[in-house]
Amino acid sequence: MKLTNKLALVTGGGRGIGRAIALAFANEEADVAVSARSRDQVEEVAAEIRRTDGGKSLAVVCDVSNATDVQRMFAIVSDAFGRSPDIMVCNAGIAESAPLTKTDDDLWRRHVETNLSGTFYCMRAALPSMLEQGWGRIINVASIAGKTGAPYIAAYSASKHGVLGLTRSVAMEVGGKGITVNAICPGYVNTDMTTRGVENITTRTGRPAAEALAAIKQMSPQNRLITPEEVAALALLFASDEGRGINGQAINIDGGTVLF
Ligand code: NDP
Repeated sequence: MKLTNKLALVTGGGRGIGRAIALAFANEEADVAVSARSRDQVEEVAAEIRRTDGGKSLAVVCDVSNATDVQRMFAIVSDAFGRSPDIMVCNAGIAESAPLTKTDDDLWRRHVETNLSGTFYCMRAALPSMLEQGWGRIINVASIAGKTGAPYIAAYSASKHGVLGLTRSVAMEVGGKGITVNAICPGYVNTDMTTRGVENITTRTGRPAAEALAAIKQMSPQNRLITPEEVAALALLFASDEGRGINGQAINIDGGTVLF
């Protein structure tokens, strides 16, 4: 599943799932632009790509919740590579928990603006050149929380449900033009986000971290966390020519926790 001569832009590419996707794409010969708010992290991933694959890579600092900043990111990427991305991975995201009555306006807005509006801004900016060239891939990293609910994650879950609506609608809109739009719905993945979730449970309940982590793992019939590399493997299938028939899908990668 080579991505030779393709340019990918991966948001939230400084660590975790985004980093794994950026490295996996570079390994298949794609040029990769990596973005997030933390400059040191995106620069490290871009440097890692140059060291290991010798591929072209670029680090761009961008807050996806800001539409102007997203436009600026696309301008920087186009300037650097002389073209717009063929593959857009909307992965940047945040997850905080609170009961609904303690979900203040800021927490709500942070989730909607980062997870949902951030995905919308990037899709809107990425599509015109894909439509022009008649080839493109949009890959949105949603969550199984985009398909089902759970206590204390209303803002997160609502934002990810929104990402699936966006994915399905745009997939139908551009599906006849050589572009596919799909979502990945991971269960708990072994990243900083899950570590922070465990710390949060420990702080709020006094439950030992090992116990909280064990409870999270037990939500999956496989009794384990998914690895970022497993998520990257699915992203690679979506990005490839071989995956061209997959469109408008929201595929779970969760060991069988959610069966729809
Ligand atoms: P991490 O917290 O490890 O990484 C999140 C990435 O997103 C970081 O690079 C972060 O960089 C970036 N990011 C966050 N907010 C913004 C923003 N406003 N603008 C630009 N970049 C931003 O999390 P994961 O790798 O685990 O998560 C990646 C995606 O996968 C998210 O969308 C998440 O919801 C989803 N997911 C994760 C699961 C898990 O269990 N870990 C399960 C299901 C889905 P920085 O802070 O520097 O901006």
